[in-house]
Amino acid sequence: MDPMMQNQNNAMPTAKSGGRKFRNDIIFISVLLAVVVLMGVAFFLLRGEGDTVTVEVNGVRLGSYPLSEDRTVEIRTGIEDEELNLLVIKDGKAFVETATCPDGICAAHRPISREGESIVCLPHKVVITISSAKGNAPDIVA
Ligand SMILES: [Zn+2]
Repeated sequence: MDPMMQNQNNAMPTAKSGGRKFRNDIIFISVLLAVVVLMGVAFFLLRGEGDTVTVEVNGVRLGSYPLSEDRTVEIRTGIEDEELNLLVIKDGKAFVETATCPDGICAAHRPISREGESIVCLPHKVVITISSAKGNAPDIVA
């Protein structure tokens, strides 16, 4: 009984500075909450992020490349492979740097990195798609 009473008595003088401690706790909890929210946002963003770039020409799969590795892929089309779409994978994003197609829509397309995004070159029948091997997205059966 006595030690407990003593502890309670000892707690009394620090009660005044308890207000500051309480404020620190609020700051700490706020920071913690902010971190948790940021982590949640990051997790959500990462979930939507694709990891594979797939190139199809005329419906035929040419190849798949990891989005995490920087590389340049020459997509040759045309009767004598005279047409070119230069696919660049850089910093986790894929884009067409140059293309010989007349409309240039694919080259003008902004870099893609999110699952399900694609760059299409209609004149060359080239489709560049971002997919995710994580398989979070439900399969849509047409
Ligand atoms: Zn194009």
